[in-house]
Amino acid sequence: MTDSHEMPMLHALPSEGALEVTASRLSGLRSDEAEERLHIHGFNRLPMVAPRGWLIRFLSQFHNMLIYVLIASAAVTAFMQHWIDSGVIVAVILGNAIVGFLQEGRAEAAMDAIKDMLAPHAAVLRDGRRTSVDASELVPGDIVLVEAGDRVPADLRLIEARSLRVEEAALTGESVPVDKASDPVASNAALGDRSSMLFSGTLVAAGTGRGVVVATGMATEIGKISGMLQKVETLSTPLVRQMDVFARWLTLFILIVAALLLAYGLVVGHLAFPELFMTIVGLSVAAIPEGLPAVMTITLAVGVQAMARRNAIVRRLPAIETLGSVSVICTDKTGTLTRNEMVVASLVAAGHVYAVDGEGYAPEGAVRWKDADADPRDHAVLTAFARAAGLCNDAVLHSANGAWRVEGDPMEGALMALAGKITGGGADPFTEGWRRVDVIPFDAAHRYMAVLHVDDKGKCHVHVKGAPEAILALCAGQRMPDGSTGPLDVAYWEHMVDMLAAEGQRVLAVAIGEWRPEMRHLTQEALVGSLTLIGLVGLMDPPRPEAIAAVAECHRAGIRVKMITGDHAATARAIAAMIGLQRCDRVLTGADIDRMDDASLALAAIETDIFARTSPAHKLRLVTALQSQGLTVAMTGDGVNDAPALKRADAGIAMGIKGSEAAKEAAELVLADDNFASIAAAVREGRTVYDNIKKVISWTLPTNAGEAATIIIALFAGLALPVTAVQILWINLVTAVTLGLALAFEPSEDGTMQRPPRRRDEPLLTADLLWHIFLVSMLFAALVFGIFFYALDKGHSAELARTMAMNTLVVMEIFHVFFIRNIYGTSLTWRAVRGTKVVWACVISVTVAQFAITYLPFMQRLFGTESVPLMDGLVIVGLGWVFFALVEIEKQMRLALRKRA
Ligand code: ATP
Repeated sequence: MTDSHEMPMLHALPSEGALEVTASRLSGLRSDEAEERLHIHGFNRLPMVAPRGWLIRFLSQFHNMLIYVLIASAAVTAFMQHWIDSGVIVAVILGNAIVGFLQEGRAEAAMDAIKDMLAPHAAVLRDGRRTSVDASELVPGDIVLVEAGDRVPADLRLIEARSLRVEEAALTGESVPVDKASDPVASNAALGDRSSMLFSGTLVAAGTGRGVVVATGMATEIGKISGMLQKVETLSTPLVRQMDVFARWLTLFILIVAALLLAYGLVVGHLAFPELFMTIVGLSVAAIPEGLPAVMTITLAVGVQAMARRNAIVRRLPAIETLGSVSVICTDKTGTLTRNEMVVASLVAAGHVYAVDGEGYAPEGAVRWKDADADPRDHAVLTAFARAAGLCNDAVLHSANGAWRVEGDPMEGALMALAGKITGGGADPFTEGWRRVDVIPFDAAHRYMAVLHVDDKGKCHVHVKGAPEAILALCAGQRMPDGSTGPLDVAYWEHMVDMLAAEGQRVLAVAIGEWRPEMRHLTQEALVGSLTLIGLVGLMDPPRPEAIAAVAECHRAGIRVKMITGDHAATARAIAAMIGLQRCDRVLTGADIDRMDDASLALAAIETDIFARTSPAHKLRLVTALQSQGLTVAMTGDGVNDAPALKRADAGIAMGIKGSEAAKEAAELVLADDNFASIAAAVREGRTVYDNIKKVISWTLPTNAGEAATIIIALFAGLALPVTAVQILWINLVTAVTLGLALAFEPSEDGTMQRPPRRRDEPLLTADLLWHIFLVSMLFAALVFGIFFYALDKGHSAELARTMAMNTLVVMEIFHVFFIRNIYGTSLTWRAVRGTKVVWACVISVTVAQFAITYLPFMQRLFGTESVPLMDGLVIVGLGWVFFALVEIEKQMRLALRKRA
């Protein structure tokens, strides 16, 4: 074990040593230094679980019950010296494996790309400023800043810690968070006792800290233990697994039926074994939906990619299905419904209301009182505002190419800009030489932030900012216009808070206090009654226009949208009205929720769309309450304390930009742009993926049932087979997989977001689907026999009659694809007929393949086909139209009856 806890930076650092580290505490590494060290130490990554090699992946394609059946059939046909048949079967087995292999590779690549989008970032000091870098680029010597909710990106020796608590379960198995501080510990302390170290992979539960990186990648403690990062996510969802199990049982069922039919044919029908055996092989192949698992996987992968394009990153695949059935979305306000681009619009002091001009984060703009510029020399309270805004603040403003950007919390960025506007752009000369000695970080539970500074004369100053109720509770007096301190006029301040909030402004209160130097540390208890209120700050954060449209879309889709915010009730109500929430007349606050028992909360939660001044614990109760009413709940969150609610929700959605690592890890979905519109887009994609999986199933199962019915009827009726076994193989493995695949790429149907949400427990095999399977399989069998006998009747050879029957089957499958594309509406629109590029690409490939098998001499020899005359070809296409007309009319009848109901 190393003694890294003593002077840890010396061990893993390059030889420049500790002195330089001390010097870089304030400014961090230079970028060129960091780059150099990256060369020496490599990326800060743990190796992923080795992906399966291509050979294993290819061989695993053969690990499938159907393939075993086919291999056995190939062996038996070879034994019977039916070389052509066994050749075709082997070709089909190989073809299937290659298609499966390629598709799986694509799907895995899609998932990997998405994993990259979720790469964690770390806040570091580089070149003297705070920036955010990809955590894999951290090097020993970097100064890293951590806060509640972060996953520690590397092993760090703390140089500063404030109320820091870390959950080290990933490393020590201990799930209770442990306290951390910068004081050194004994050199032989065990891993769990090294309180001055933060270890890579552990989770910051509370507080803030700053530390120097001492080890990265495999050199970290977690790297030494496990050397492994994530388990590989399999491409599966409950629905896919359900279908897998179904397919396995179906295979078994079919094999037993096939064995019985073989016995029946031999004993009762006295048929010759070779032909009978080939017929039974054909039947098995016909009935087993072998392409289904592959096509369903591709459908999911396509869905994941489509969501990623709309900024919704799926972390757990089952979320795709859940999203499609979401019936209520509980969303944050700040940054999700609003832009989170804050700007201070007003200041309220005792007796004065100021308007603040300016745009964005530029520290430029006038502060006006009664329409005239207010000079801080005449309005001393403005200086107090500037000082509180600038000191009680962790954000940094950067200007590049004339544009001002904020690094850190946007609200604090707006306060920094305010400070600049009041002091005229420069730093406040009065606070020069002040040192921050302690801080109580903002927390949604107490809703304020406090800082303690020591000035150059050793005097201590406290500055506090936070939610007005929280600050008023700490204040004993207020700053009067003449600079004196007067009694706190709570009624006045509450009135002014309501006034600002009613305009949709986010309201903060700021206060100052004196601190006795011997007290040193800030404590929440000591703050009570020790502060003097300076006034209120009103910030504007306009709604996102796209969120307004997305909320309307959700309402049309039968999805309720509820806003759950930490903000003031009046602000929440004003923003909710701008956004277009349904019930803006009613607001429940965290305090109201606390007073309710679970049963009354469940009823109230349904009726209410706005929840204000809530804490993460309320979110958890609300999710549970809504779920108890049978709703499928999507819930957004960003903070470390939101993790339980995100886990509990049916679809937990974390913010990609402002969200903590803890929230992202608890969530099923991460929004790359924190935007509500992306949630609506994800729900639409979720519905589309579910529809497409349903379409794939609705297309595949009747196709298999139809083919199987054809063979069984022929066998029992003692008729000649209208399609041979190898032809059935061809249809199933070549054409069916291609056409089924087209459905995986289907775009959303019109009206996808105008339907009410699907019930979560809706069974896959609905009565509608069963009826569809029956109807289509009967039509397939009838028309195949029809054309077969028509051909024989015309005097065609049995081979030609079979060729025509096989082509009829394929033509009907193509028409069936066009039918299935619109299960909720008519297929008789120009848009439906025009289809998509993918559909036409698949249809054209299949058509070319059909021409090849029908007209190419060597294919004719292999498959026992004959060239179909033009007129008969037209009859076949005509039959396709007849089939299409019949099923479409049946659908219209069903839809019409349903509408009346
Ligand atoms: P949402 O949940 O919609 O994102 P929110 O961001 O307003 O809402 P919180 O972050 O819980 O919710 O903030 C609650 C209140 O705490 C705010 O209205 C504000 O008054 C205060 N507050 C927020 N951030 C800070 C901060 N950094 N320092 C001091 N007070 C803050």
